[in-house]
Formats: sequence, structure tokens, C-alpha cells
Amino acid sequence: MAISREKLAIEGGAPVRAEPLPPMYPGGMMIGDEEKQAVLAVLDDKNLFRFAGPSKTPSRVSTFEEKFAQHFGARFALAVSSGTAALHCGLVALGIGPGDEVILPAYTFISSATAIIAAKAVPIIVEVDDSLTIDPAEVERHVTPRTRAIMPVHMRGAPCDMDRLVAIAKKHNLKVIEDVAQADGASFHGKRLGTFGEVGAFSLQFNKVITTGEGGVVVTDDKILYDRARIFHDGAGGFFGGRKEPVSVPFFPGLNYRMSEIAGALALVQLTRLDGLLQAMRARKARIKEAIAPTAMAKGVTFRRENDPAGDAAVALILYMPTADKAREIARALSAENVRAGSMFNEGVPDWHVAFHWKHIIGQNMPTELGCPYRCPLYQGEVHYSADMWPRSLDLLGRSVHIDVSPLLTDADCDQIAEGIVKVLDALL
Ligand SMILES: *Cc1c(COP(=O)(O)O)cnc(C)c1O
Repeated sequence: MAISREKLAIEGGAPVRAEPLPPMYPGGMMIGDEEKQAVLAVLDDKNLFRFAGPSKTPSRVSTFEEKFAQHFGARFALAVSSGTAALHCGLVALGIGPGDEVILPAYTFISSATAIIAAKAVPIIVEVDDSLTIDPAEVERHVTPRTRAIMPVHMRGAPCDMDRLVAIAKKHNLKVIEDVAQADGASFHGKRLGTFGEVGAFSLQFNKVITTGEGGVVVTDDKILYDRARIFHDGAGGFFGGRKEPVSVPFFPGLNYRMSEIAGALALVQLTRLDGLLQAMRARKARIKEAIAPTAMAKGVTFRRENDPAGDAAVALILYMPTADKAREIARALSAENVRAGSMFNEGVPDWHVAFHWKHIIGQNMPTELGCPYRCPLYQGEVHYSADMWPRSLDLLGRSVHIDVSPLLTDADCDQIAEGIVKVLDALL
């Protein structure tokens, strides 16, 4: 160990920053007068429900849907109550159900898998590659006669390799439903995520890029899929919406996944903030990356590989350390410097973003004794999961150190983050 090095905060030295980093709620931290006025206007109207109310004001939710579709270059957008609801609506719209398999990555929020199970299909959980997104080669390896769809998940803002995934889907006649919950607004080679597949599912939950607290959006170019999603999201088969805007397909039983007008009003304002937030996060991430690159290289630390760096939502900086133990030690040391950091997988720390921790899915503990969809008589396959069946994903996540890139970071904050990273890597590697 070098004697002359700067003493780490974790060893009692002075931290590189006096204050913690700002909280990571990109859209949430921007909530201001516009959001307040928009919500108050809804209350003044007393129109809290998109399909009915005492005033003649056009529905905020409907206006939001039009603007969202326009912004993303999609034909249709359907606002719903959550990202999970968006996934569920998308799967049902695609006609995915009993007997079907859907391929998704081992690194995603558990909702991606539970939405598939809620649609009565079987999630086939496969490895991510060093981009921490689904490995296209693994997708291809897991295609069976029962596979109906691929669910790419653009984790921590970064696009999956949509060229390869769409090509695999075409080759095997599969649908693509993108989970864009963590990458609202990001793109792949200039085209917005969520518009590559038949369906894109977005989340507006409070941790996401833009937010209504809870909320989601389904995007599609296909009128039939749009109508089917609309029927499913509006209880009892499109009762309210169907009266206002006729659907072109036969009704079937749905659930209530509608968005409230208050959320719609918030969503309209937050959508105007989206591209500014992305620009801010991209600039800050680039500044930090540039400052730490020489040290990272000298120390054998690599950056998460990006399928399209320009399209990244840039919500996070992710670095691979040589070992999981080092990653944990470095994350702890950084946090002590007031540069909040975490390793991304730890057996002992439950985290529903890593399939290893999905105990009830791994155990196939289903709500009924028959155990559908796994033991559904219509399901011809047989799946067994075990917590250790994704060794590459767990290795990559275990060796990762994750740092939030808030749009609120000042240049000085970015420079201190970089200084902290350099200090800790110099001391510990
Ligand atoms: C947040 C999230 C979801 C679920 O969105 P909710 O709005 O919380 O239901 C789905 N997938 C991923 C990858 C997420 O991060």
C-alpha cells in the first residue's frame, strides 16, 4: 500500500465532498409551479376521471397520450396506472397467454416477470451481457416452439441491442415487447426506445426519468393492439372508453388500469421536461467519465459497455471492478466520500432487480395449487429455475459499482464525484 496516498474517508480522512449527492428522482426533483398549477386546474374543474366529469375541459390524460405518441414518433399511446400495468396490457394485447413463453433478462425489475405470469405465460429468464442488457445470443439459444415474445429491458437507461433482437424476433416469428421503464426518452441509433417492438411499455413511477408518482404508458403503431390494450385497461371491456372512442375489435374482459386526470395533468408537464433532463444527465455523465477515464484504464476498471452511448438516458455510471469483494469495498469507500455508490448484486442483500432474489418465482410459488402457468395443462414445456443459473449476470452485477447521475449535479459536483472515484481507485486498486 502506498504510504503517501490521501487518507480515505472510510479510514477517517476528510471526504472529498462535505454534502451527500442530491436525491435521484430526475423528474420528481423538478416538480414546481407548472405541476402545481396543472394539478390545481384539475381540482378546480372537479374532473378527476378521464371519461366523465362535471366540466367540459378536454381530458388531460387524452391530451397527454396524443403528445406522448407524437414525441415518441408512435401512432398510439395509452396512459395507464403503472409500468407493470403497461406490460400486462401489452402482453394481453399481443394475445400472449396460457402455453406461451416470453424471454426476458435475469437483470430487470421483478415486474417484467410478474407481468408475464399475470398474463398466464411462462417467463424464460436468460443472461445479460456486459451491457447489462439481455444477451441476444442467449435469446436465440432459448427460443422453443412455445416462444411467443422477447421482452428486452433497457436497464439503467441504456438501450438493448435492438438491431440484433429485432432480427432474431423476425427470424423466429416472435413479438417484441420493450420494457422501457428505466429509460423513458432514451434511444437506439436515433430512434426512441419503445418504438422498435410491437409494444413499448413505459413507467412514470417516482424513481423513473419523468414521473406522476405512479403511472405508465403503452405505445404501439398497431391499431388492433392499441384497441386491445384499451379494452384491457378499462374494466369490464372498455365500458367507458368504448363509448367515447369505438374500438375496432371484439370486447373481452379487462381490468381497471386507467390513469387519473391528476396524474394526466402531471404527466403533461413532466413530458415537457423529458428531453432537457436527458440532455442534462448525458452532459454530466460525459464529464465524469472523461475525468476518470485515465485512472480507470490504469487500474483495469472498465465501463459498462453501451450498445449506443449517444442514446443512453445516462441515469447512471456503472464501472466493473476486478472482483465482487473489491466492488463492495469501493462502493463503501465512495459512499464515505459522500459519493453515493452501490454494488449491484450481493447475495445477502435482497434486491428485486436481480433474478437471483426472485425466490417465489424461482420456487414457482403461484397463487393457486395447480401452479399455473408452470403446471398449466396447456403448457407443453418444463422450466426449472435455480438462483445460480445466471452466473455471468451475477458475476457482472457483483463486480459493478453504480453511481447515480442526477440532472441536478453542478459541474463542481461532477468534478468531486470524479475526484472521489480517482481517490478511491488509487487507494484500493
Ligand atoms: C419500475 C420498473 C417496472 C415497473 O414499473 P411500475 O410503474 O413501478 O409498475 C418494470 N420494469 C422495470 C425495468 C422497472 O424498473
